[in-house]
Amino acid sequence: METLTLLAAQPALMVGAMTVLGLLVGSFLNVVIHRLPVMVEREWRSDCRSLLELGDGDSPPEPFDLVRPRSRCPKCGTQITAMENIPLLSYLVLGGRCRHCRVAISKRYPLVEASGGLLGGLAAWHFGFAADADSTLWLLRAFAAACYAWALVALALIDFDTHYLFDNITQPLLWAGLACSFFGLFAPDLGSAVLGAMAGYLSLWSIYWGFKLITGKEGMGYGDFKLLAALGAWLGWQALPAVILLSSVIGAVVGIGAMASGLTKRGEPIPFGPFLAAAGIVAMFFDDAIAGLFQSGARL
Ligand SMILES: [Zn+2]
Repeated sequence: METLTLLAAQPALMVGAMTVLGLLVGSFLNVVIHRLPVMVEREWRSDCRSLLELGDGDSPPEPFDLVRPRSRCPKCGTQITAMENIPLLSYLVLGGRCRHCRVAISKRYPLVEASGGLLGGLAAWHFGFAADADSTLWLLRAFAAACYAWALVALALIDFDTHYLFDNITQPLLWAGLACSFFGLFAPDLGSAVLGAMAGYLSLWSIYWGFKLITGKEGMGYGDFKLLAALGAWLGWQALPAVILLSSVIGAVVGIGAMASGLTKRGEPIPFGPFLAAAGIVAMFFDDAIAGLFQSGARL
């Protein structure tokens, strides 16, 4: 409890501690982003086999989860030691290359670690100051906001890679949002959060079916509905118009930019999850700026 009081009284210490924690979480997020899709695909395959009564296959697969096997260099297979796994620092010391075969390590790893650190620090900066007596609530708010942002980073990159937003993350995120709202952390009240979850799901669900009935095409996936439901549970229904507007605008700008620069071809689907996640992070940490924009928009 004394540590908590100390952290609450020292803003710089709090921001520093949450940044370091965020760097470590970022390192773990890299593992989740890389391995969760493989784990889910294995599970689907195994479910399909048992449904079709095909047996377990020839040999039982090697254990593969978020812990096993230990991380290896994708080229030479050298196991990565704990010293080579220090967030950001190891990448810089090794010059962005494998110690053994000198193959370049993807820049995404240090970038995800840095994002984890930045978001942890930002959460502490935004929610972690406690001038009043109820410092535990402030700390809880900072930690919960950081977890929310970290989960959104994982979802965004997994959706970018695979075009899937897995229930393994969206569903716990939704329930965690309702739990936070029960304790009055972010949404104005619990009713707003429940309504936010319902409205989040139903709004995109309606757009999906409207689009499908008119054009015969699928514009989004069910994962997008669940993600927006989760954002509604965390932030309350009041934040949803801004989140939808923001994600659509960022999505349109990035989509047009990617097509113009030849990164994606016309008609190639672009996942919507990363934009929803980005808008969810902005809505959590820059709520004042968004409220200001909406007010000035309403005055025009
Ligand atoms: Zn190597």
